[in-house]
Amino acid sequence: MDLPAQHRALEKELMAVFSHALGTASFIGGPQVQSFEEEFASFCGARHCVGVGSGTDALRFALLAAGVGPGDGVITVPMTFIATTEAISQVGARPIFVDVEESTSNMDPNRLEDLLGRIFGDRGFLCHSGSSWKPKAVVPVHLYGHPAHMDPILELAQRYELLVIEDACQAHGAEYLSGRIGNRSTWRKVGTMGAAAAFSFYPGKNLGACGEAGAVVTDDDEIARRVRMIRDHGQSQKYYHEMEGYNGRLDAIQAGILRIKLRHLPGWNQLRRDKAAVYNELLGSMDNCIVPGEAPYARCVYHLYVIRVARRDQLHAHLMRKGIGCGLHYPLPLHLQRAYKHLAHKEGDFPVAEKLAREVISLPFFPEITREQQQAVAEAVKEFLSGKV
Ligand SMILES: *Cc1c(COP(=O)(O)O)cnc(C)c1O
Repeated sequence: MDLPAQHRALEKELMAVFSHALGTASFIGGPQVQSFEEEFASFCGARHCVGVGSGTDALRFALLAAGVGPGDGVITVPMTFIATTEAISQVGARPIFVDVEESTSNMDPNRLEDLLGRIFGDRGFLCHSGSSWKPKAVVPVHLYGHPAHMDPILELAQRYELLVIEDACQAHGAEYLSGRIGNRSTWRKVGTMGAAAAFSFYPGKNLGACGEAGAVVTDDDEIARRVRMIRDHGQSQKYYHEMEGYNGRLDAIQAGILRIKLRHLPGWNQLRRDKAAVYNELLGSMDNCIVPGEAPYARCVYHLYVIRVARRDQLHAHLMRKGIGCGLHYPLPLHLQRAYKHLAHKEGDFPVAEKLAREVISLPFFPEITREQQQAVAEAVKEFLSGKV
């Protein structure tokens, strides 16, 4: 991606944020943070946004505030960035994996139903052997900017009395066609369907700070109140601590930068959709290349443009040799990472995630990418796929 291109276009406005912060020496909290929180909540269509230090903080604090803790199981996918499961472990809970769907790389509601049926049994009794890790929550991830299939997930969560915390760190502004509200289907922004949602503003995300930042979004007054305390050492007022918390605040410079960039986010997301369509058109005709699809219930924001090919590692090497930067998101699913040895999974446990991890490659992609750049990338991909190299 080409972040400097984005920053050049906004340089004057961004520099004004830095000089204002230097001049007033207001770095932590304050009006910029409060305004950003109001603006991002309204962008999402949620009641509350609480700015925090990172997306990982947002996941941790949302889980804590929702009451997830030691002894709880939290169901999530193995095809995600490790921050999703780090947050689960770090609040004292344990990740329980469920496989993803091949078409979207997101949580598979059918497999979730099977898993819950096995854990709770037909009559709702807990019957799996590791019963000390009774599931308390589900964390769907809207991977690559494609919304997870929320309606069936929410339905199952309701049936089994589980909380839903969305990992929306890659999906600012993505929309899901939900039939759960009223009796009409409505497009809802991701982050407004679970009890709470986590967003990351890591520089490379669709909405990125110039440093670390994140936010919890929720309609729940109590969760919002608790996240506000947790991010600030458990303080309800200065030096009065209702609990132990964290140093996990959003700083004022990042909030000021995010306010400026938020105004451009809808336009950037539209550009991402347009440019994804350009790649689809350039690469979609190759029969040995699977381009990303959009489920009928989804309006994606293409955080990444990810294709799937059989000889992925060779294609990766070929593109890198040609000076075309690309990435693998992600090359090894979480259940096979050394960090999760103690969960005792083996190859074959989540075959779809494993297959995707072998086949995915993310092509150069950002709102400002030009047609010429996309054509050059597509040519290099085609050259490889047609066996010319
Ligand atoms: C980026 C990301 C996170 C973590 O966000 P940070 O701001 O880097 O802490 C969590 N989950 C997913 C899916 C992400 O892509």
